[in-house]
Amino acid sequence: MSDTNSYSIRVEPTKQSRLSQVDFNNLKFGQIMSDHMLVANYDNGAWTDVSIVPYGDLQISPAMSSLHYGQAIFEGVKAYKYADETVSVFRPDQNWERLNKSAKRLQMPEVPQEIFLEGLKQLLKIDKQWIPSIEGTSLYIRPFMFGTEPALGVHASASYKFIIITCPVGAYYSQPISLKVETYYTRAVSGGVGFSKNAGNYALSLYPTQLANEEGYDQIMWTDAAEHKYIEEAGTANLIFRIGDSIITPHGETILHGVTRRTIMELAEKWGYTTEQRNVSVAELIDGIKNGTVTEAFAAGTAATVTHISRIGFEGQDYELPPVEGREFSNKVFDYLNQLRYGKIEDPFGWNFIV
Ligand SMILES: *Cc1c(COP(=O)(O)O)cnc(C)c1O
Repeated sequence: MSDTNSYSIRVEPTKQSRLSQVDFNNLKFGQIMSDHMLVANYDNGAWTDVSIVPYGDLQISPAMSSLHYGQAIFEGVKAYKYADETVSVFRPDQNWERLNKSAKRLQMPEVPQEIFLEGLKQLLKIDKQWIPSIEGTSLYIRPFMFGTEPALGVHASASYKFIIITCPVGAYYSQPISLKVETYYTRAVSGGVGFSKNAGNYALSLYPTQLANEEGYDQIMWTDAAEHKYIEEAGTANLIFRIGDSIITPHGETILHGVTRRTIMELAEKWGYTTEQRNVSVAELIDGIKNGTVTEAFAAGTAATVTHISRIGFEGQDYELPPVEGREFSNKVFDYLNQLRYGKIEDPFGWNFIV
């Protein structure tokens, strides 16, 4: 990590903390923001005014370019508090790298590591009280960037804001989910923006997801744009399967390369499982469920780490997966990551970024 300190971060503490009004036993995801936010502006080719200020509304122009042309990207990260009050963020360097990959694809400026990581560190120090400590809880961190130029010409915005806001999130007990294999709508195409974490990828998923919900499924299983034969990912999370003795995840530029997916595949390899990153066809999955070789299937993402999949719908037919209790790998990896992130076990990989 860089230790040059070329950006001085101005800190303006809140005069009125909202902390005492928060019911930490009843947190709805993403609704209560911590007292402070980090804001940096990009103007005339350089990042300036890096500051930590009270969380609050922004003033924007109606002509702000990102509202019209969509230069908007984001990240999702989590911070955890150990029993001894140590604060740890899970692999934020990966999020910083991914943010900059998204930025490049959308013709946006890169955010220096120092603003992202050092800024985050300082933000978490000032809002340390907002990080809940009960096991299963965490502080969700949302870094994001968008074009701010007040002009309607179609071109890359000349100015940007990079902001980090955070919110405490309650213990998340995710129920197993059902997925509908999507065979008409498309999330991403090769040469497109599927690998980037940009706002538009979510906008386009909402309508097809609503249709899937109306048919009784929780989420969509996206398939490739050309043939709708190969599995890509779930709505907001990557997919990992255990087929035979192999831990398998789809690959390629049309999926978002999740930090959780990467972490889980790295662990699988370390633990001696066979791992494969390759095309997985819907037919392979359905056949495997029918003949019993698909023993585990789950979605992997920062929100819930591991969300078991209980049922998959394809062409009007439902396929049930084996009971969650018997899923050896996914339960093991979920427990391991929980312990690691709360500092209960050694961190041999250096994944915990201590604040
Ligand atoms: C963020 C995201 C994921 C999961 O990524 P993590 O880094 O593991 O949180 C997967 N798919 C999509 C579309 C995403 O936006």
